[in-house]
Amino acid sequence: MSETVPSSSLIKRLEKRIEKNFSDQIELLQKLVKARSTNQYTPDLSPKDIPVEAKVAKLIYSEIKNMGLSPKRIGESRERTNVVCNFGPDRFRKSLILNGHMDTVEQVSTWTRKPFAGEVENGRLYGVGALDMKGTLSAYMFVLKALVAEKVKLDGRLILEFVVDEEPGASSQYGTGYLVKKGISAKAAIIGEPGTGKISIGHRGGYRFRLTTSGEAVHTGFSAWEKKEKGRNAVLDMARVIIALQTIEMPYRPARAFPGRIPVFTFPTNINGGTSINIVPDKCVAEGDVRLMPGNSDKQVKMWMEEAIKLHCPDIIYEIEDLVYVPSVEIAKHEEIVDVLLKNMLEVTGRKPKIAGAGPWNDAWMLVTRGIPTVAGFGPDGENAHGANEHVDLGSLKDITKIYARTVVEYLGVKK
Ligand SMILES: [Zn+2]
Repeated sequence: MSETVPSSSLIKRLEKRIEKNFSDQIELLQKLVKARSTNQYTPDLSPKDIPVEAKVAKLIYSEIKNMGLSPKRIGESRERTNVVCNFGPDRFRKSLILNGHMDTVEQVSTWTRKPFAGEVENGRLYGVGALDMKGTLSAYMFVLKALVAEKVKLDGRLILEFVVDEEPGASSQYGTGYLVKKGISAKAAIIGEPGTGKISIGHRGGYRFRLTTSGEAVHTGFSAWEKKEKGRNAVLDMARVIIALQTIEMPYRPARAFPGRIPVFTFPTNINGGTSINIVPDKCVAEGDVRLMPGNSDKQVKMWMEEAIKLHCPDIIYEIEDLVYVPSVEIAKHEEIVDVLLKNMLEVTGRKPKIAGAGPWNDAWMLVTRGIPTVAGFGPDGENAHGANEHVDLGSLKDITKIYARTVVEYLGVKK
């Protein structure tokens, strides 16, 4: 059987179904917000055995089961499972991943509303993660629900991925990284990070590191220090390193997804050294953050740092520890998945989004580096993601659910 274009009557039926189910979708989103999944960990300390997202995973798993489908819970540990659901034929040519993270950032202290209640007011739903990105997860669920209810037979395979551990730096091996490692692949993917203003065709990358200088501690009143026989001030050494590293100029090639942007080296972003007012500090630790463009790598940056230190202060004893590395990625402006999303955004809302790269990175690089053209962001509108009184705009959420549904049937095709 060959791939066929979905009829306009099928699209109308799907949209009607989404309209009809929308109050249920709001209710599910409230449950998702109440199922607290704040992720306080840094990528290097992310624990395998703390059930950060488990309440959300359980909820999504049982909702999909209730649709009569067979979702799977898979992951590095029982506590941190991803939920994956395949929908469509066993044999297929085309396939599409819809990916979204189940964890959220910690709530900031300046919330004036209840952060985990899912309050609805004036067409907005408030809550930690309501926008980033539980709203999107609810959209994926109700696309699936509409497909099931309308008995749609897709010509290709839809793969829903609800993943763990994205927020701390999109570099986790428990979430999308785990699914990639297990061989789950597709012809295209969408990560529905919020915002309809832009179809994101890539993201900048990042490298974060910790640099430690080592000296020798000695009491400042000792004559050995006075005579320069003993002691070495690690904070002073760090000051020299800091000055040396300001000379780094990172070469890059211009990228179509990031017109006008350049790589940015910031060091230090935080610093710590010394133990007491009358002791020469023997250690100083500082961290740095580097924003990368396509073609830049962590190895490159480290080499430039080492060269600068060698040139300006070769006597310093130091160590560089890698914290996070995410490469910058971009896909073509006219990938089929981008074109289909763009067309449907126009048809549903009458508005034309920009097509460009995103500043902050997410899990998209894990898919793009495996050859999967991935939209790194296109989801519902709202405000204050990661901030106080985060909320998703419910009108936009309904639109985006329709846009995803249309995109699924048009990209994958339907069987008659
Ligand atoms: Zn996000």
